[in-house]
Amino acid sequence: MNLTRCRVCDSTNLELTIDLGSQPWCNHFLKPEEVGKEPFYPLRVLYCHDCGTVQLDYTVTKEIMFGDHTYLSGVTKSLSEHFKSVAQEIDTRFFSDTKGKSVLDIGSNDGTQLKHFQALGYDVLGVESSKTTAKIANDAGVPTLNEFFNLDVVQGLNRKFHVINAAGVFFHLEELHSVTEAIREALENDGVFVVQFLYMKRIVDNLAFDQIYHEHLLYYNLQTIEVLLNRHGLSMFDAYLSPIHGGSIIGFVTHKGKQATSTRLQTLRQAEVEEKSNELSTYQEFARRIERMKQENIAYLETAKQQGKKIFGFGAPVKGNTMLNYFGVGTQYITYLVEKNELRRGLYSPGMHIPIVIEKELEELPDIYYVLAWNFKKEILVNNQHLVNQGVEFYFPVNPTEI
Ligand SMILES: [Zn+2]
Repeated sequence: MNLTRCRVCDSTNLELTIDLGSQPWCNHFLKPEEVGKEPFYPLRVLYCHDCGTVQLDYTVTKEIMFGDHTYLSGVTKSLSEHFKSVAQEIDTRFFSDTKGKSVLDIGSNDGTQLKHFQALGYDVLGVESSKTTAKIANDAGVPTLNEFFNLDVVQGLNRKFHVINAAGVFFHLEELHSVTEAIREALENDGVFVVQFLYMKRIVDNLAFDQIYHEHLLYYNLQTIEVLLNRHGLSMFDAYLSPIHGGSIIGFVTHKGKQATSTRLQTLRQAEVEEKSNELSTYQEFARRIERMKQENIAYLETAKQQGKKIFGFGAPVKGNTMLNYFGVGTQYITYLVEKNELRRGLYSPGMHIPIVIEKELEELPDIYYVLAWNFKKEILVNNQHLVNQGVEFYFPVNPTEI
């Protein structure tokens, strides 16, 4: 499935800008009997000359990718705290006096976000495509439909919501226009749609190219997501940059023309223009910097290996697989990936086949932790100060600037 039209604006004026080669679907951690049998797909980024959106040209179908993933948002403390503050912010700013208030969470995962809304008196509904994850949410008392959210689902529900939240799902969408239309349809007249997405401008600034993987079909800046929203009668009226996942935009959207644009949103838009964030040259330079980063990382790992150092990966995040596969870093350098999420016990990383060990079951310490879960840098360093004190080095291949 090779893309010929821009996913956002339908233009055919697309250009290949970043080629990360052939990669396995990176969220498919392998059982021992699956090792070596995983399929590989092209991982290439195209630039749209008409609207500026960067996007993958190859779509691994959503049934393969989101039928039964094992990512749990509740596992990470800082993420749960972020969800809590988002719920409080939305309620205080927009709906503190509203009676019978309701919220729909798209890609609601294990219900972590909705629990915070329940605590504020909202009637909540989640829509989550992963069967296992939806069950965890329902068992925890968070009503959750096990579906792919789209126009059909909304028409079946036949109700509207004061708040619609979509955190970290908008770049996944194969049915982009059906979903955006469904949001417009399900949003109350004075409702607020909160869209949270990885900010491509930050990904480029931080050289966080590991955020590029098959599940992320699209990479948004404000300019490009606004093209999409406007096509569906929605408009963003406020946004700010949050440190979540190394730099995410929290954007507030409503029906077109309902709210005036905030000053801080105008400032963010202006920065994209000044820094040429939506221009082809920026992405071509990004591709060159990724290649240099690869050379530097291999040199670092090779030197450490020569010195006889034991290296473990810290975390087995999905995005880590983009980096490991593109760098060609496997068990020749890294003995284990050490992970908290127990659903990944005994599995292997796709492509490079590094075994995963659960953190609390680890029997020895490495000399170096090669940190794949770099977006939790602060949390990791605080939680592991005792290891730092014992001389364990924490190496961050992606080292984000603070927000
Ligand atoms: Zn386009």
